[in-house]
Amino acid sequence: MSRRDSPYANSGIVVAIEQEDLKEYSKYGPLAGMHLQAEIEQKVFGIGDGSQKAPAQRLKDFLKGKFSSSIPKSSYIPGLYSADLAALFPSHIADRLKNGFRAFDKSMRGYVHDDAIIVATESRTSSPVRIPRDPVSREHVSVKGLYPCGEGAGYAGGIISAAMDGQNTVKAVAYSLGVQHEA
Ligand SMILES: Cc1cc2nc3c(=O)[nH]c(=O)nc-3n(C[C@H](O)[C@H](O)[C@H](O)COP(=O)(O)OP(=O)(O)OC[C@H]3O[C@@H](n4cnc5c(N)ncnc54)[C@H](O)[C@@H]3O)c2cc1C
Repeated sequence: MSRRDSPYANSGIVVAIEQEDLKEYSKYGPLAGMHLQAEIEQKVFGIGDGSQKAPAQRLKDFLKGKFSSSIPKSSYIPGLYSADLAALFPSHIADRLKNGFRAFDKSMRGYVHDDAIIVATESRTSSPVRIPRDPVSREHVSVKGLYPCGEGAGYAGGIISAAMDGQNTVKAVAYSLGVQHEA
């Protein structure tokens, strides 16, 4: 797919998982997010036939909560099978996805297209464990000189947000060192 010349937009759509979404996993402490992630991955794999085939749904059917009687061709080589994707996620994730797709369709008319399909699941974006830092200095709360940032530290999920978090962290470090920087 590296030539980016396929007829398919191979794009990951992700939603934010907030602290309050992890309440029922609080018994796992800082690893709560990892347990939610594992649960979703096991559930998605569990409804399949043990192969790498992935569950999919027409975007229009996902928004209507309707099972897709057929799935169009896709770029996913192992193959797809029809499934009720909303049932695979906690409702707060399914609802945020639906709201997001409807908003996309408003700003990009035709986004919700007959042949558009969604495939589950993209579960590995930013780290589900966050390394604590001071919100202003961005320095670790107890280790001086350590500035947790980007995806691995749990502050970004994707190229742009990781770059922005890195940039803002460097600005915070420069400021703490008294280095003036252009806005
Ligand atoms: C297959 C795949 C596809 C993706 N597709 C997209 C996409 O289409 N769009 C999108 O927005 N995001 C995508 N992402 C996510 C995106 O790549 C990451 O969110 C982003 O790269 C995170 O940037 P980062 O700088 O925080 O971390 P990273 O890019 O992971 O950089 C961390 C760096 O630290 C280095 N490192 C690790 N340990 C050490 C050590 N001990 N000492 C020195 N160096 C070390 C690593 O080698 C690495 O270079 C994808 C990720 C993957 C894996």
